[in-house]
Amino acid sequence: MTLSNLLEKAAGGGRLTLEEGVRVYKEAPLHELGAAAHARRMTLYPTSDVTYVIDTTINYTNVCNVHCSFCAFFRPEKHGEGYTMSHDDVLARVAWAAEQGATQIMIQGGVNPELRIEWFERLFRRVRAEHPNVDIHSLSVSEINGLANVEGMSPRDVLLRLREAGLKSLPGAGAEILVERVRKRISARKIKPDEWLGVMREAQLLGMPTTATMMFGSIETEEERIEHLDVMRRLQDETHGFTAFIPWYYVPYKTPLRGKESTGLEYLRVLAVSRLYLDNFPHLQASWLTPGLKLGQLALFYGCDDMGGTILEERVVTLAGSTNVATRAQLENIVSGAGFRPVVRDTYWNLRPEMALATA
Ligand code: SF4
Repeated sequence: MTLSNLLEKAAGGGRLTLEEGVRVYKEAPLHELGAAAHARRMTLYPTSDVTYVIDTTINYTNVCNVHCSFCAFFRPEKHGEGYTMSHDDVLARVAWAAEQGATQIMIQGGVNPELRIEWFERLFRRVRAEHPNVDIHSLSVSEINGLANVEGMSPRDVLLRLREAGLKSLPGAGAEILVERVRKRISARKIKPDEWLGVMREAQLLGMPTTATMMFGSIETEEERIEHLDVMRRLQDETHGFTAFIPWYYVPYKTPLRGKESTGLEYLRVLAVSRLYLDNFPHLQASWLTPGLKLGQLALFYGCDDMGGTILEERVVTLAGSTNVATRAQLENIVSGAGFRPVVRDTYWNLRPEMALATA
């Protein structure tokens, strides 16, 4: 098949093989790739709506025993700069976010072996009791797995306990690139690719929707990026439990791994090929936190139908050198400036038009 035929096939919803995905990613001219991805997005959602969620990320602890080389956020156990927030601290942040209209909170941090499952159960129960309108979309697969290790429980039993306490869904964090070679180099102590997929599968089978992410631009090859898409697509074929795919690029400035920051064109290329390759994923999210709002705006023409969250507070990426923040008004301005209509959604993609900004 010619490249044009492949793009036409994918834009029409046809499935690309792994080899075809690699070829399209490496060889298709950027604007043709983007046009095909945008055509696919407009077929899936023939509307000018672009959704976003009002949320915040609360990084409750930076203590972590996993030590990923791409991470500038964590501190090892007993380090003088390690911190763990009290429940009152976390609740104060949730209260503040709820006042700003947040419907989702992402409580996420390092894998801190000092924290037992009861600590999370008590925290989630308090959040649920004090803020019943806020969904707890929290804890990465690494944190779930860390708890399973500390407690001597299966990840499924940890999920069941936390679901009972109020955990509604899981963010797709900690996937990076789900290829063994890459993980051995950048996060050797982290949960293995098959285990990451296994925890996600358990969560999804328990009825907890999850997102999926890809952190690209560290040491992986272009082929390995498509392999990552492929393992995500295979799990989605099985469970249909992923709501959205969120590619974001590695920020190297203050990390032990260092390296170079991806370019804007590389970001757009990854978005477009993700939209085309992941034919079974409902949504593609523009993660504007690392590339910035203006590139996030361009992402709306490269397959994205969602702007993610407002992220009222976040430390992991900002500590690695990203300086992008945004108000709701700025986020909506970027969307409407691109000719789309900003629409607030919740964690489950229910539209919440009553939450539109008065000035929008
Ligand atoms: S990325 Fe997550 S698991 Fe890895 S060191 Fe940082 S906090 Fe720990």
